[in-house]
Amino acid sequence: MPRTLITGGAGFIGSHLCDRFVAEGHDVICMDNFITGRADNVAHLIGNSRFQLIQYDVTNFIHVEGDLDYILHFASPASPIDYLELPIQTLKVGALGTHKALGLAKAKGARLLLASTSEVYGDPKEHPQSETYWGNVNPIGIRGVYDEAKRYAEAMTMAYHRYHGVETRIVRIFNTYGPKMRATDGRVVSNFINQALKGEDITVYGEGNQTRSFQYVDDLVEGVYRLLMSDEVDPVNIGNPDETTILEFAKEIVALTNTTSKIIFEPLPKDDPQVRQPDISKARRILDWEPRVPRSEGLRRTMEYFQAELVNA
Ligand code: UDP
Repeated sequence: MPRTLITGGAGFIGSHLCDRFVAEGHDVICMDNFITGRADNVAHLIGNSRFQLIQYDVTNFIHVEGDLDYILHFASPASPIDYLELPIQTLKVGALGTHKALGLAKAKGARLLLASTSEVYGDPKEHPQSETYWGNVNPIGIRGVYDEAKRYAEAMTMAYHRYHGVETRIVRIFNTYGPKMRATDGRVVSNFINQALKGEDITVYGEGNQTRSFQYVDDLVEGVYRLLMSDEVDPVNIGNPDETTILEFAKEIVALTNTTSKIIFEPLPKDDPQVRQPDISKARRILDWEPRVPRSEGLRRTMEYFQAELVNA
């Protein structure tokens, strides 16, 4: 049985990874300090002999007893309002947490996959963004704590690979949505769906002409799995190239939910990237991967999840 540590395993994406790796027959250790992760996300796995949940902050030395084959380093605040509220923790987990996770990978001879982000491209001057683009990031801006932490994490990962020979993989994740996002995490998908379901105003920031490209979480999980099992050391974009403006997206949510909510406009946060769309030719070529779930279907499943959460609240 492969044994796999997932840091941030109780978070939105981490919890989906726990499900997938348990289903693949791995023994999974889920580590989370619960600052943005939630035990509820993995509650259904408690009692499964293949699954262990440990509350721990991975910015400290990580001790795991026994062998480890894989480490998926997904611990980090990941939504803009979270990393604005937790700037130091965000920097620490990207820097110190990645260092500790790599040290553990080296000690155990495990393969480590780093969760990086499209934010390494910043407010991009190249569109769509391919892995060869170096990015346009403001290091001292409000988003810099996340962007630079992830850029540092990539650099540290490559250093452990080159200097210590650790087997590493880097996934650059583009905007991802789906069940188990926090309703209050401030991201556009969770905000718009919850506003629509509650009949509240839908808050478009700026004029809504900025673009994003949203991928459903199951597609991401498949991409991460394939990348981990591949030989590719350099970063790989995993995202859905289906690009939309935020205003169009708001209208889509209004139609999907049949809501009476009005669309209103609020100030655009500082350094908000104007465009974002992954170039996924590399993932197509080397992983034979591409997104399968269209936005209409993914949003319907996500809406059902939030609807049930509202009923249970
Ligand atoms: N956004 C918005 N209304 C909201 C939340 C976000 O218009 O209630 C915009 C935000 O300014 C950005 C885009 O939606 O342009 C995506 O924001 P999100 O926080 O989901 O992720 P980002 O891609 O910026 O990290």
